[in-house]
Amino acid sequence: MSLQNIAVGHQELKAFLLRYLQGNPQANTLLFAGPPGSGKSFFLKAFAKDFLCTKNSGVACGKCPSCKSFSMGVIPDFKECNEQKNPIKIQQIRSLQQDALLHPVYSNKKLIVLYGADNLTLEASNALLKMLEEPNLSTCFILETNMPDKILSTIRSRSVLFRFQPYSDRDMKSILESSSIEQDSTKINLIASLANGNAHRAFKLCNEEYFSKRIEYCSKFETIVLEENVIPEFPKKMEKNELNHFIFESQSLVEDSIRVSLNKEAQIKNRDQIQLIKTVAESFELPSILKLQEILLQCEQISDSSAVQTNKLLLKVMMDCKKSLYF
Ligand SMILES: [Zn+2]
Repeated sequence: MSLQNIAVGHQELKAFLLRYLQGNPQANTLLFAGPPGSGKSFFLKAFAKDFLCTKNSGVACGKCPSCKSFSMGVIPDFKECNEQKNPIKIQQIRSLQQDALLHPVYSNKKLIVLYGADNLTLEASNALLKMLEEPNLSTCFILETNMPDKILSTIRSRSVLFRFQPYSDRDMKSILESSSIEQDSTKINLIASLANGNAHRAFKLCNEEYFSKRIEYCSKFETIVLEENVIPEFPKKMEKNELNHFIFESQSLVEDSIRVSLNKEAQIKNRDQIQLIKTVAESFELPSILKLQEILLQCEQISDSSAVQTNKLLLKVMMDCKKSLYF
């Protein structure tokens, strides 16, 4: 797909990207930054196809060898690294240095994408900086990141920044409608609101099983928060991703309760849980709800690290939540 075929979302940024492509781009480092699920990778791939087209018009022609091989997914001048967004070590940057030296096959320049570029070790960051300071004219790098502030400022300052914002609810609705994964318009409206601008979350919510888990977690959250002496039951061996899902849904409900406490009811995301959210907001003072939010945010940081006994952690979180509200 070419950028000009993307009809939904980030239309101003799209125009900016197209102008950049049509202006004979010379920069050797581009930064695609924005929150998770904001469409960075999707736009990046369309941009790459346009960039690599041998007609050099700024728009993919669809017919040249570069465009054809791009559509088949076998394009030699486009390399994507670290799609899993793992920590990036210095050896990986050294291997990229080798790739950067190779001549492009079809296009004037090769494109090398580094996903999760905020996850570079300091050593790797310095090696990357060194490589960018001695530009190789036949290679352009794209750094993709959710957290641009975590990238060395000296790398950021050398890069052309394209910043993505979360999708609007309206755009998310159009994306879901055109994907035809979900047909029910009421559910599409709810999912667009719940996704909060994150397309990854929206597509997960279209999955029946994930959606019913969410309902189950909302009800467990209700027990933890509103029934002083009851601890809900969870599977004895809870998977880490299930814990993360539960924490995420709880955070989202707490955020909505804060919205209600601040008289911003119109901005509620979990519209199907409005009664629960209002009850939480009416039952507790705002400082207690903010404390609850803090506990859940801390848990997100802990669960990111490995070797945590998930069930133990879950129990601790539930007890801490109760303490914050009842003691
Ligand atoms: Zn082409």
